[in-house]
Amino acid sequence: MPPEPAQRYRGPVLPDGEPRDLYVVAGRITYEPQPGADTVAEGWIVPGLVDAHCHLGLDDFGATDDAATEQQAIADRDGGALLIRDAGSAADTRWIHDRDDLPRLIRCGRHIAATKRYIRGYAHEVEPADLASYAAQEARNGDGWIKLVGDWISRDEGDLAPSFPAEAFADAIAAAHAEGAKVTAHCFGHGVLPGLIEAGIDCIEHGTGLTEDLIDAMVQHGTRLVPTVMQLDKFPEHAAAGQDKFPAYAETMTDLYARMPATIMAAYEAGVPIYAGSDGGGISRHGNIAGEVEALARIGVPAHDALGAASWRAREWLGVDGLTEGASADFVVYDRDPRADLSVLRTPTRVVLRGRSVVA
Ligand SMILES: [Zn+2]
Repeated sequence: MPPEPAQRYRGPVLPDGEPRDLYVVAGRITYEPQPGADTVAEGWIVPGLVDAHCHLGLDDFGATDDAATEQQAIADRDGGALLIRDAGSAADTRWIHDRDDLPRLIRCGRHIAATKRYIRGYAHEVEPADLASYAAQEARNGDGWIKLVGDWISRDEGDLAPSFPAEAFADAIAAAHAEGAKVTAHCFGHGVLPGLIEAGIDCIEHGTGLTEDLIDAMVQHGTRLVPTVMQLDKFPEHAAAGQDKFPAYAETMTDLYARMPATIMAAYEAGVPIYAGSDGGGISRHGNIAGEVEALARIGVPAHDALGAASWRAREWLGVDGLTEGASADFVVYDRDPRADLSVLRTPTRVVLRGRSVVA
């Protein structure tokens, strides 16, 4: 078979915005001129977008079948998300690794929650004494991450409350680390955070309960934050739904939401590394990483950093190459500078995954 002809993409390459000719040869990037290469597209070239908090194989009712999961992955891909950190799934989605046409995937295994303290059908629901052994199990099942449900409404207390005692969380984090996995946790409220951060958790999801002292502790420990701003925008709905039976919970959610932009921006300004997560599948739709970049910008993250949070900075964090010589050709082309107008992220000219145009 004759070799596939080299392809040329031309335009400013982010993050530095230097105009370049980028060539794709056998699925890989080279900046060495390739005589006879066809110019496939011109525009702003952005390293493949990253959805750092998404759920493939999950919908409102729990695990989805493989056909539905495939549609979720295609929606994410077509929105430019070529690398997904799955933040917990009830389905076994490791088959996605074998599909060249679907995004790269870093799985967290299944969520681990306290008994009857999470969305039905989502998590392994366990008692405190079993938390560490489940953490080790999911560390072995996942792709280097596990996901804990840090807090959730306690119907007994009528308010948001930590899922487990701090010592149980600390043991679980140590157990996952011993298996070589990193740990992240769903955290809406304040109470769960000090113990998790002190115990060396690697990342916090949502993080609306952060305070100045905890933000300082995150900076010291190098803890990352994936706020999922679009998901936080649903707090008023949670508050309204809980109002009659759980007024204290409704008040907590309303208060957290009122302070949300200031809380997330305080973390950003203190230097906590922030990444973009759409929370697709966690009661949100797939394929909307663009919406999360816009949401980060809306609360005050400068456009360049909001985009970096969903592209080059997130790739670096997760250990996946950007647009370097010899890297897999995973990138998105836009017809204008997304940093000047983030809305262009909704209409990519090209989405190139492993050297192949999947959206053209
Ligand atoms: Zn989620």
